[in-house]
Amino acid sequence: MLACELALGGARTVVVERRTEPEKHSKAMGMQGRTVELLELRGLLDRFKEGAGVLQGGNFASLGVPMRFEEFDTRHPYVLLVPQLRTEELLAERARELGVRIVRGAAVTGFAQDDDGVTVETGTGPLRARYLVGCDGGGSTVRKHAGIGFTGQDPHMYALIGDMRFSGELPRGEGLGPMRPVGLLNPERRSWFGAFQHQPGVYRATVAWFDEPFPDRNAPVTEEEMRAALIEHTGGDHGMHDVTWLSRLTDVSRLADSYRNGRVLLAGDAAHIHLPAGGQGLNLGFQDAVNLGWKLAAMVRGQGTEELLDSYESERRPVADGVVRNTRTQAVLIDPDPRYDALRQTFRELMALPDTNRYIAGMLSGFDVTYGTGDHPLVGRRMPDAELLTADGPRRISDCFAGARGLLLLPEPAPAAPPLAAWADRVDTLTAKGAGPEPATAYLIRPDGYVAWAGDPARHDELHHAAATWFGPAA
Ligand SMILES: Cc1cc2nc3c(=O)[nH]c(=O)nc-3n(C[C@H](O)[C@H](O)[C@H](O)COP(=O)(O)OP(=O)(O)OC[C@H]3O[C@@H](n4cnc5c(N)ncnc54)[C@H](O)[C@@H]3O)c2cc1C
Repeated sequence: MLACELALGGARTVVVERRTEPEKHSKAMGMQGRTVELLELRGLLDRFKEGAGVLQGGNFASLGVPMRFEEFDTRHPYVLLVPQLRTEELLAERARELGVRIVRGAAVTGFAQDDDGVTVETGTGPLRARYLVGCDGGGSTVRKHAGIGFTGQDPHMYALIGDMRFSGELPRGEGLGPMRPVGLLNPERRSWFGAFQHQPGVYRATVAWFDEPFPDRNAPVTEEEMRAALIEHTGGDHGMHDVTWLSRLTDVSRLADSYRNGRVLLAGDAAHIHLPAGGQGLNLGFQDAVNLGWKLAAMVRGQGTEELLDSYESERRPVADGVVRNTRTQAVLIDPDPRYDALRQTFRELMALPDTNRYIAGMLSGFDVTYGTGDHPLVGRRMPDAELLTADGPRRISDCFAGARGLLLLPEPAPAAPPLAAWADRVDTLTAKGAGPEPATAYLIRPDGYVAWAGDPARHDELHHAAATWFGPAA
């Protein structure tokens, strides 16, 4: 996704991938609402929707209380069920369409940076670039080589996870959320079992327990180990068969101390890892990419400032910190120890209150992500997808960002001279009726759909200042 964003912004990009072939199994299964909106902004949603299911209400700590995403003034109040493999395939396809070079079978082993760029060592020879972004997962070589610390909590929860079929009846417990319609809490053994059917007859099954570490975290999981865990924690193997994927999972959570060291940046799991509760990790990384792409592309074009690039960390690191905290909260709430029953019940009651439900739903969906504030309440927030009436007919705001450019929305009538003519190489101007809640207001919107400035369209001084801050000096 980052490569696509950079390509749209005019930066030549190479993706260096260690694997010779795509992964065979999906980790993530869903796109949260804000990710769906961003896919729509870039004109990619139709591809992702093809054949995808939809999950209403989301899942927080399997408490069984649905979240009310409808409250968020969105056209997408749901989780779009797209397996990660499909996401990776579609994004690779898009990157190739945009001219990105993808080099497979090349592992980054180190790099050296100087004033002008970075020389990256790969197994197949050095590469020279202006910037390097480590999107290389939780064990990130780039992060380690950049000397950036990864601070957080060691695991308490240990789980085996996999894709399989069952010929027997699966246990059904109470209070397990929509992602786990079948499951079991085992307070005596302080463990739980959950299974989510993601293809006809194929379950993503998890057996989890607490405070008993794996003998070897890195040992591959065998079918026998999974069977033994099922028997121990659920009383039987339920006719487990056709196992296609098995892995280990913990609630280890860590956040990079910094997202940038000079010309080297981090995004995705390289910058943050946590329990995949509520389905947030891939979404967090995707939204890192959409925040970073246009800023880094501006740097490459010579139109960005150091402050603009640093805003990537100041905007995205707090969002990841919030996700790490909510997943740690969930790790406690899914611990079936009876000591936490009261906590679970209190959380259920809290989540039934509209304000609390909105707080949690806003965090999981990404709808409540804000990047700073301003004089107008929409500054720093995502621009709602209003229907616009333009001289050329009706248009939706979400149709205006396929090229990852900025957008100035002006209320009618169109001014004699467009106020951002000197930024026309980076910012489009559209005059329309019905752009936002207040018809006389102008909105300057960033390429990632967040409002940079809103106010009186006659205030050219304010508008020029905002344009220079977010889009660089006038041409
Ligand atoms: C069981 C499970 C379920 C999950 N479910 C969800 C979910 O429902 N929703 C959700 O949002 N998230 C979910 N997640 C989290 C999600 O899978 C991750 O957040 C996501 O994969 C992170 O993407 P990434 O590109 O940052 O890192 P990765 O997916 O780890 O990709 C890193 C890539 O870098 C490559 N690489 C690594 N080192 C090098 C190197 N030195 N040189 C070159 N290439 C290298 C790797 O081969 C890999 O292709 C889940 C995770 C797990 C484990």
